[in-house]
Amino acid sequence: MHKDIATPIRTQEILKKYGFAFKKSLGQNFLIDTNILRRIVDYAELNEESGAIEIGPGIGALTEQLAKRSKKVTAFEIDQRLLPILKDTLSPYDNVTVIHEDILKADVEKVIAEEFAGIDDVMVVANLPYYVTTPIILQLLTENLPIRGLVVMLQKEVADRIAAKPGTKEYGSLSIAIQYYTEAETVMIVPKTVFMPQPNVESAVIRLMKREKPIVEVKDEEFFFTVTRSSFAQRRKTILNNLTSQLPDGKSKKDQILSALEQTGVDPTRRGETLSIEEFGRLSDALLLHFK
Ligand code: SAM
Repeated sequence: MHKDIATPIRTQEILKKYGFAFKKSLGQNFLIDTNILRRIVDYAELNEESGAIEIGPGIGALTEQLAKRSKKVTAFEIDQRLLPILKDTLSPYDNVTVIHEDILKADVEKVIAEEFAGIDDVMVVANLPYYVTTPIILQLLTENLPIRGLVVMLQKEVADRIAAKPGTKEYGSLSIAIQYYTEAETVMIVPKTVFMPQPNVESAVIRLMKREKPIVEVKDEEFFFTVTRSSFAQRRKTILNNLTSQLPDGKSKKDQILSALEQTGVDPTRRGETLSIEEFGRLSDALLLHFK
């Protein structure tokens, strides 16, 4: 049996062998704790028929654990310097493909069709680069990909905002954008000591399981997200003030906004953070008439 990649000693050996220097700008904080990695994979609930998409394999710490617990792993890595390293470290596994591409520019739908033909269960599992966590998650969700969900490591502060419930200070348009598509739950808080180098912020693992259909049915998704973002533009302002100042021609349409709020049963003096996603859905449909 070969040694796991994710130990401090083996990681140091690999870095030294290749003279690899971390690039902070690419969010390179590698995991050096096999137990944490196994737990991340547990939360993804993979089996021998599953496919896993990884974003940013680094030197292969998580990739290796995914390879052991799924039928096929496809990983996107932006940093060319890591490709020869991954070829070496992942050589014991014949079920891994590494694609040298920026995940934000990749045609993930096409990759899934090509790489996971005949595989019905696909999960995204990753220790995300922290400088782009929300764009990556939002892109993967809005593209409506054939995936069961995501289990990803990210900054704890972002995980808190994603999984937040109405009435909390973390709840905002990011919580709504992600909970619209998924059931979101923080499953693990992870100490800095399991990374090399250690990140400056606390980390957490979040599980996002895709809903069969969005949490609310809205007539116009784009407008719904405009309404939610507008409602949180200034957190201390009332929903009425935010909507009038943020929506196009909102000031001249104050009466229509008031009547949409009344129709939805939302007191205009409430703050955005007190509205449930369902209330935002009804409000957005009532406002649509006047703004589109
Ligand atoms: N999975 C490895 C681990 O857990 O040890 C490394 C995780 S590290 C936090 C993030 C990885 O994402 C790095 O390997 C980095 O080069 C890569 N990366 C950064 N930006 C990326 C992007 N836009 N697309 C694909 N990979 C990216």
